[in-house]
Amino acid sequence: MKRIAPERSHEQPLPTPDADSQAYWQALRDGRLLLQHCAWCNNVQVYHQAICRKCGSTALEHRPASGYATVYSFSVVHRAPGPAFKEDAPYAVLLVELDEGPRMISSFVGGKPEDVAFGMRLRLVCDSVTEEISLPRFTPINVETGGQSRPREET
Ligand SMILES: [Zn+2]
Repeated sequence: MKRIAPERSHEQPLPTPDADSQAYWQALRDGRLLLQHCAWCNNVQVYHQAICRKCGSTALEHRPASGYATVYSFSVVHRAPGPAFKEDAPYAVLLVELDEGPRMISSFVGGKPEDVAFGMRLRLVCDSVTEEISLPRFTPINVETGGQSRPREET
């Protein structure tokens, strides 16, 4: 994974883990995206909150996501919003729908931004940008490797 050079990591805004989100950030460092499952209404949510966004219950269980998702919407950024992002442009900002249901904003890695398409299948990669922070990003599942032809599907 590409690391942001230390001098740049200070320029790009990074999340600050607090007591509530410790488990979430720890899991990302371990390569897993934690979801909250509500024991009362079965709602699944991404960002860690004290209560279920749907029914207000506090009976939330942390479970790792499968890591598979689909492109719900996206936007290719050609002009960086600031000097800290200049080297990254062009890049694709994604709204992905996780296989578990919830949607989240993320970014596209492992391919050209112009290759992103609606409905494209993706898998999670945890990109460690600093020692403390790994960000959830998504990469295409069907990456052609080393000129090998894909096995024909049996019918
Ligand atoms: Zn609920």
